[in-house]
Amino acid sequence: MFQRVKEAVERGRRFIVATHVDPDGDALGSAFALGLALTQMGKEAAVYLKGTIPYRYRFLPKPPIILNELPRTGYDVAIVVDCGDLERVGDGFEALKACDILINVDHHETNEAFGQLNIVDERASSTAEILYLILGALGVRLSRDMAVNLYTAILTDTGSFRYDCTTQRAFSISEELVGLGVRPADVAAEVYESHPKERFLLLCQVLGTLELHQHDKIATAYVTQSMFERTGTNREYTEGFVENIREIRGVEVACLFREIGDGAYKVSMRSKDGVDVAAVARSFGGGGHQRAAGCTIEGNVEAVKNKVIGAFSL
Ligand code: 5GP
Ligand code: MN
Repeated sequence: MFQRVKEAVERGRRFIVATHVDPDGDALGSAFALGLALTQMGKEAAVYLKGTIPYRYRFLPKPPIILNELPRTGYDVAIVVDCGDLERVGDGFEALKACDILINVDHHETNEAFGQLNIVDERASSTAEILYLILGALGVRLSRDMAVNLYTAILTDTGSFRYDCTTQRAFSISEELVGLGVRPADVAAEVYESHPKERFLLLCQVLGTLELHQHDKIATAYVTQSMFERTGTNREYTEGFVENIREIRGVEVACLFREIGDGAYKVSMRSKDGVDVAAVARSFGGGGHQRAAGCTIEGNVEAVKNKVIGAFSL
């Protein structure tokens, strides 16, 4: 499979790299590392990013061309990273299909294989781990900037090397990346210890909504638009909240409901051993991984919460 990617990349001249909306560390790290690698190979490579980069990822070394709009024409190869379905790329995703070839690199088990070439490995800790192997097959000499991006992606998608997906391969690739000049303490300080104080004002309000259900096995909390307004924050400040409430002893599933403005909630679900939240997310039209998944559900917070809790039997 890598051979076909290699041929497509060698033939291609103008590349567009895209990832999902609300990008996380793996989405950004993978997209930026790929943009930098293609640029180093002498290709023209633009990364399409909708919206702003979350504050904790602003330190990531960026490739030279980042576009806020998805260009309609002029690109011959599209590479979509860390994205289970093409719609999650956001506005204008159809433009990607207009490229001569669409390559899909991902590790979500719900991936819809929307590319002509699909490099999907749900056992990989992160998309960055797959990308590391692809870049190796392409003969790319990894720069420190690429390594920082790939390392940050693996760090964040493994929950700082804590989750199930933290395999020997994830560690050995990370070790290589550290050998290329990544400083783990510096990356950790940027990602985990650079919060604006407003994040904690918001966290106080969100923790005020904490509830336990189904014999204390499901923890829920929610965020409303008015909480954002009162604390001067936005959705990027909520990253990590759902993992926080999963930390409660005995809790098997954690759910965070985030009001998205039009009578709907974005649901983030996390589980511990044995509960498949991807299946529940999929039943509401979303997707993700066994232990981390999401979807969007219409209704008021109580209705949405009850729907989600009712989908589990613990
Ligand atoms: P988060 O809760 O951090 O937004 O997402 C957790 C995981 O579920 C991520 O891997 C993310 O890509 C996936 N995910 C979240 N929301 C959706 C959704 O609406 N659709 C799909 N297909 N995946 C989602
Ligand atoms: Mn990922």
